[in-house]
Amino acid sequence: MKKAMTISYEVGDNLYLNFTNKCPCACTFCIRSHADGAYGSDPLWLEHEPSEDEIKADLGKRDLSKYGEIVFCGYGEPTERIDTVVSIAGWIKEVCPEAKLRINTNGLGDLVNGRSIAEELCTAVDTVSVSLNAGTEDEYMKVTRPRFSNAFTAMQQFTADCVATGKADVVMSVVDVIPQEQIDASREIAEKLGAVLRVRKFDD
Ligand code: SF4
Repeated sequence: MKKAMTISYEVGDNLYLNFTNKCPCACTFCIRSHADGAYGSDPLWLEHEPSEDEIKADLGKRDLSKYGEIVFCGYGEPTERIDTVVSIAGWIKEVCPEAKLRINTNGLGDLVNGRSIAEELCTAVDTVSVSLNAGTEDEYMKVTRPRFSNAFTAMQQFTADCVATGKADVVMSVVDVIPQEQIDASREIAEKLGAVLRVRKFDD
């Protein structure tokens, strides 16, 4: 496994941020299990979790205004470092008020942090994208393999809490390789929670 300090990397018009390799899941499709990077990036396994100063120094070298979106994502679950996400999001908005911020999350940040994080997160970013992955609990647990037994319920509660803040766009995503009935069931869940379902292409 190759390691580096790839704190940010470009994908298309967007800039992706990589702050942690921690994650409470072991998704069967996770790119971490078969590559050291994504979309031609340098390795995304971090030598250490970057400090806020290291993150600001990295981002300070970039023209943040040129990106369609700046996305908290990376090789791990960003809400493992919720305080850093909120702090860096605030800093980016200060230095580049027009930046559009999104977080890609597995939606288990409440369980990871032992508290509800919807309010602080939705105040900090413009879009929250939650990986729904499947339309039923059985399938979700098989595909996502979280370390929390109540993950499916908690992920939905987090999504509903984000919608209730009214402060961010809330999207749930699945990948188009799952059967149509799972996509239909996923759409029902997303609509029930007040979120929009995004069906991503497998290689997105
Ligand atoms: S939640 Fe994301 S980082 Fe974690 S195992 Fe699943 S795909 Fe990988």
